[in-house]
Amino acid sequence: ARPSSGGSSWTREQTLVVVKPDGVQWRLVGYVIQRFERRGFKLVGMKMLQAPERVLAEHYHDLQRKPFYPALISYMTSGPVVAMVWEGPNVVCSSRAMVGHTNSAEAAPDTIRGDFSIHISRNIIHASDSVEGAQKEIQLWFQSSELVNWADKGHQRSIYPP
Ligand code: UDP
Ligand code: MG
Repeated sequence: ARPSSGGSSWTREQTLVVVKPDGVQWRLVGYVIQRFERRGFKLVGMKMLQAPERVLAEHYHDLQRKPFYPALISYMTSGPVVAMVWEGPNVVCSSRAMVGHTNSAEAAPDTIRGDFSIHISRNIIHASDSVEGAQKEIQLWFQSSELVNWADKGHQRSIYPP
């Protein structure tokens, strides 16, 4: 039988993607959405917001002792961000590949960072780096009522994983 998006044949993997303030300023929100939709991933939550300090402190908790941390927080609060939740098979790993290396100099061409960023401190976009981390980040950034569990009827790449 064909697996359905509601079946148990693949885990309902989700990831958090955030277009950072420079990505919003550079008008890259639509481009980012297009990359993820073109791949076949399913958008289940999206909002524009001024990232609260409380959320950023938790989100970047592991980096709090790094010398760049204060600059990172002022960058992330310098303007609005667009937070999204994307769903699909292996979406965490695939998103990291589309986003590219943290350090812009090492980000491959055709990745989002490789095409739009020249410095690690202005790297356009965030994507969760593990399935467990993604679940924590999604709960941090979104209320469960903000996520839409819509039936996927149209896209064979997302409905029928290999
Ligand atoms: N960052 C920075 N300078 C550094 C390392 C990281 O400004 O030397 C910022 C950058 O915005 C990066 C974020 O901190 O995206 C989180 O770092 P992480 O190592 O988790 O990279 P990511 O998961 O975003 O690729
Ligand atoms: Mg990270």
